[in-house]
Amino acid sequence: MSGAGDATVRYTRGGVARPGTSLAADTGSWRVQRPVHRHRPAPCHHACPAGEDPQAYLAHFEQGRPRAAWEVLVAANPLPAVTGRVCPHPCESACNRGRFDEAVAIHHVERYLGDAALREGWVLPVPEPTPGAVRIAVVGAGPAGLSCAWQLLRLGHRVTVFEAEAQAGGACASAIPPYRLPRAVLEGENARLLALPGIDFRARQRLGRDFSIEELRAAYGAVFVAVGAQRPRVWSVDGVVPADLHPGLPLLTEWVGVGRIPTPASVAVIGGGNTAMDLARVLKGAGVAQVYVITHNGLPGPDVPAEDAMRALPREIVQAQEEGVEILAHRGVRRLLLRGERVVGVEMVHMKKLPDAAGRLRRVAFDGTETVLHVDMVVPAIGEEVDPAGLEALLNGAGHLEIDASGATASPGVFAGGDVTLHGGTVTEAVGAGRRAAHAIDRWLRATPVAGPAERDEVAPVGIEGLNLAYYEHAPRAREDVLPVAERGGDAEIDRGLSEEPAGGEARRCLSCGECLACDNCFTLCPDSAVLKTREAASDGSHYVFDYQHCKGCGLCANECPCGFIGMVAED
Ligand SMILES: Cc1cc2nc3c(=O)[nH]c(=O)nc-3n(C[C@H](O)[C@H](O)[C@H](O)COP(=O)(O)OP(=O)(O)OC[C@H]3O[C@@H](n4cnc5c(N)ncnc54)[C@H](O)[C@@H]3O)c2cc1C
Ligand code: SF4
Ligand code: SF4
Ligand code: SF4
Repeated sequence: MSGAGDATVRYTRGGVARPGTSLAADTGSWRVQRPVHRHRPAPCHHACPAGEDPQAYLAHFEQGRPRAAWEVLVAANPLPAVTGRVCPHPCESACNRGRFDEAVAIHHVERYLGDAALREGWVLPVPEPTPGAVRIAVVGAGPAGLSCAWQLLRLGHRVTVFEAEAQAGGACASAIPPYRLPRAVLEGENARLLALPGIDFRARQRLGRDFSIEELRAAYGAVFVAVGAQRPRVWSVDGVVPADLHPGLPLLTEWVGVGRIPTPASVAVIGGGNTAMDLARVLKGAGVAQVYVITHNGLPGPDVPAEDAMRALPREIVQAQEEGVEILAHRGVRRLLLRGERVVGVEMVHMKKLPDAAGRLRRVAFDGTETVLHVDMVVPAIGEEVDPAGLEALLNGAGHLEIDASGATASPGVFAGGDVTLHGGTVTEAVGAGRRAAHAIDRWLRATPVAGPAERDEVAPVGIEGLNLAYYEHAPRAREDVLPVAERGGDAEIDRGLSEEPAGGEARRCLSCGECLACDNCFTLCPDSAVLKTREAASDGSHYVFDYQHCKGCGLCANECPCGFIGMVAED
């Protein structure tokens, strides 16, 4: 022992530093709050009308498991190569990354996985139905009917799909131009689904002509009606219509079906939705020198409220303009100019949506702003309505099928979804409606209130304020190749998608909102070493567990978790 005044004297308190002693002390008893893992829906999942969980499939893809990613994807949506092309991707508008730098290009990854599955011949994962499985009738083989059929198979039922046309696909097959949706892709996904055991596909079978709802109710466990809305809305200007009026949708379907379209020198297409935009581009591509789109709505942009913006996809509007289509936004047709019964022009007036006394937006025409546009043809493309044939007993006063939140109509055992209900109006919304109805049918057949699909809709999604952005780096979003304007006009696909490397890069850009991304922060930063790492996934799906005997509840892990997967809850 050194004497007093010796400069080398040190005193070490060995008591708490002896190996093993900190474990022996149950520091967890000091705690007033504890960390917990909490799965929260990512905003992309919350916003996807089909119910997809992009966070989950991006995670699989990022970890080199494309097939597992695709299987997660098709659990919600059996048509990802279609939706990856035509969905307006509200998931990306909601994506947290959009408030950090640029949204993850979710639809490109979806499309990449959908295409990979077609290329590789991956089979939709579903067990064969048991011999006693109930058979359900699905009327209409558009996205809503196909989605419902797929989910019914997944739930163990059999399905007979009745389709009026020779082929499946609905409006995707009959109206969306192949340069936006190549037919090999559409037909590949439809055929893969319809070939599954348990599905019986009956083409050229029309409700109202070949069978009735009552006959289906008598022969099947339940009925799902998904016949869409394909009858063009009646259009006139103060009761006046040109003698040679051709509504937009039949013109477009004729072009898609047999490649024929009139080509006068100039055409005015009336409307601002997908049909108007597709038709205008097809007319332009066919050689019509001047194609105008006259729409009450505004061009989508920061100054135009969403409810006043044109309904066509913004990308399609931009491409139409690139191709020479002239969009006359915020205009209405006040008068048709006729020579005899033939149209020679229209008188337009400026229109705008302005708030009324109650604050609601109402469309107002501004007198004195009239202008004349000389055209050889006017084509209304102002939307479609339901063909009532066979549905008379089910239609409401507004001419469509009324359903509750699950998809049930007022008639027991009859469910409906997609455009026939006039909810939505997109492929993805139709897919979501089919999925929800399949679960509702399953519950109805069992006559027990079993849990519905894991929507997680009731749980608020994790917002950007729930993330710790200090742990993420900025990275630009991948850009896809687009066919140059000079090469457009045929069936060649215009949007070329992403190849494997940039698609993988997009998956890596995902912030993994609300789900563990295995960054090890909690494991390495916990001052009490109270976060343990497990080789196998723990019961909550992550590879981390809390050692509550030693966690003092300091909250550091929750603070430093990048993705909002750890929350602090008060001790009882
Ligand atoms: C030109 C155009 C472009 C579009 N572009 C896009 C886009 O880019 N993105 C997007 O998300 N959405 C787009 N849409 C909308 C989208 O196509 C529809 O919302 C979607 O297809 C609706 O699906 P559904 O299954 O409800 O109906 P549909 O797709 O209309 O399918 C209904 C099916 O039922 C069949 N059927 C009809 N009547 C009967 C009967 N009596 N008996 C038996 N079968 C019957 C039909 O033949 C059809 O196959 C577009 C629509 C059009 C017209
Ligand atoms: S279907 Fe549409 S909203 Fe859903 S994930 Fe795909 S692109 Fe996004
Ligand atoms: S960052 Fe990823 S998990 Fe978060 S909203 Fe975007 S895609 Fe979804
Ligand atoms: S800190 Fe990292 S490892 Fe820990 S829960 Fe959060 S994401 Fe997972």
